[in-house]
Order: sequence, then C-alpha cells, then structure tokens
Amino acid sequence: MAEFFIPERALVIVAHADDIEFGVSGTVARWTEAGAQVTYCIVTDNSSGSNDPAMKSDDLIEIRRLEQIASAEAVGVTDVRFLNYKDGTLTPTLELRRDLTRVVRDVRPQIVITFDPTTILTMENNYINHPDHRATGEAAVYAVFPSSESRPIFPELLAEGYEPHKVQQLYLVLTNQPNLTVDVSATHGLKLDALRAHKSQVGEEEFEMVKQWDAASGEAEGYAYAEVFRVMKLNEPEPVS
Ligand SMILES: [Zn+2]
Repeated sequence: MAEFFIPERALVIVAHADDIEFGVSGTVARWTEAGAQVTYCIVTDNSSGSNDPAMKSDDLIEIRRLEQIASAEAVGVTDVRFLNYKDGTLTPTLELRRDLTRVVRDVRPQIVITFDPTTILTMENNYINHPDHRATGEAAVYAVFPSSESRPIFPELLAEGYEPHKVQQLYLVLTNQPNLTVDVSATHGLKLDALRAHKSQVGEEEFEMVKQWDAASGEAEGYAYAEVFRVMKLNEPEPVS
C-alpha cells in the first residue's frame, strides 16, 4: 500500500468540469487545509454537458467555467486552468501532451492526479469509462513521464521558459487497481459543497451516489468516507539544499 502525504504543490488534470468533485475533492480539501497549493487543469470546454436542444454551446461553456471556479473555491483552490479542447471527442494527441507538459512544468507539483488510462470498463461492470477520461489520462501520464522531465522533448517549451520538472508521484483515479485509501470523512462536507457548485449538472441523486461510493470506499479501513487511488511512485523527493 502507498502512504498518504501532504505535498507542497499538487496538480489535478481531468477532462470535464465536475470530474474532480465526483472523485477527488475530499483529498484536495485535506491538502489545502494543510497548506498545500493545488492547481486544477480542465482539458475540455465542457460544451457537451447538456442534451437540451435549447442550450447554446457558448452559454454552457461559460456556465460550466464559472461553476468549476466556484467549486474549486469551496475546497481552497484558486488556480483553475482551462485548455478548451472540444468536449466529447478528445484524443491523446501530441498537441495535448505538449499542452499538459507546459502546465506540469509551470506548476512544478510533487503529485499529479489524473485518470487511470488503463480503465476501459469498471470492475463493478456498471460504467464504460468516458473516452475523454482515458484520453486525458493517457496524455497526462505521458506528460509527467517522459515529457515533463526530459529536456530534449518539446524544445519549444524550453524556448518559452519552461524548464524540466520531475513529478514524485502520480495518483490515478477511476482505477481498477487501487493501492491507497484516503480518509476524507473530515472533508466530506466540503466535497459535497464543491459538488453542489455544479448546479447545471448535479442534484440530490448525485449527492446520494457520491455518499454511497465514498462510504463503500472507506468500509474496509473503517472510514466513514474515503477516496481511492492507484499511486505510482516515480521519483524520490529532491534533497533540500
Ligand atoms: Zn468526466
């Protein structure tokens, strides 16, 4: 099993506004309460989050951008970045990998949270993983390694002033192989506040669903609520000089 620690800086890379609030904002709240700086990076423009024919795409993009910013604030996160790729048809292109490498080198986090790109179908046989999640996970994992730490990859980023950076740990969500259970009992109220900020997307049904998931995740460890991750340990901490 991996051990939970408080990073100085963490970066969360997901596909859509509200992905973080369903999966990881209880953990984010534990970090920010302990003084960590957390940055969110939302890859898509969130324009596919409505089947209402009357909803205009540009309006939805702006509504969901503001909801995500409010949601981040609920757990102490003020740095939210949007890459604005088209929602629903994302692929793990080199362009996306380079854009994520730029964010990793800029934020210089010890921990990056993203989607487990190996999950196509869930263990519970009840969810086909959204292709945007897998595309985001694949591009983000390869942005962390090798792109972020390797000087010769994406020389245009060096020209822009982004020096290489080594991430210490990857926390992968929506995984079939969890090895870390984080107790989020104390921050679960904040997590629900963050979820509630996505007014255009969630209601009582979703709150109940998240409570049930997180209670089930904590059961084996005796936690009221938990979030689970597959942790990859990539690099030891840099020695303090
Ligand atoms: Zn999503």
